[in-house]
Amino acid sequence: MKNFRYRLQRLLMNRYGQDALNTTLIIVSFVLSLLSLIDSFLSPLMSIISFILVSIVLFRFFSKNIFKRRAENHLYLTLTTPLYRNIKVMYLNMSDPRRKYFLCPMCKRMVRIPRKKGKVEITCPTCHHHFNARS
Ligand SMILES: [Zn+2]
Repeated sequence: MKNFRYRLQRLLMNRYGQDALNTTLIIVSFVLSLLSLIDSFLSPLMSIISFILVSIVLFRFFSKNIFKRRAENHLYLTLTTPLYRNIKVMYLNMSDPRRKYFLCPMCKRMVRIPRKKGKVEITCPTCHHHFNARS
C-alpha cells in the first residue's frame, strides 16, 4: 500500500491538477453525456464532443506546463466572473423578497438595500461611488 501511495505521489508530482476550467469542462461533458442518452439522433456527436472534453480535462490535469494552464484558467475566470456575478444578483433578487441587490457600477461589488423604499441613492461601501436605483 505504501508503494502504491509513493507511486501515485510520484505520478502527480509537478502536475497542474484541478481548477475551475476543468470543473466546468467536466460538468459540460457530463450534461452532454446525459443528453446523448435522451436524443438518439445527435447521440454520436454529443458522445464525441464529451470524449474530447474529457480528453482536454485529462491533458490539463496531468500537464507539466503549469504557467500555460494557469493562464488558460485565468482567462476563463476573467471571461466568466461577470456573468456568474450577474446571474447571482438575478437569483438573489428573485429569491429574497425583503431586499434588492445591485452591483456597483465602478467596482462591481454587490450592494443590498431594503425593498419598497422608492428611488434611493446608494453609496458603495468599498469605493464610495454614488448611484441611483429603485428599490
Ligand atoms: Zn463600488
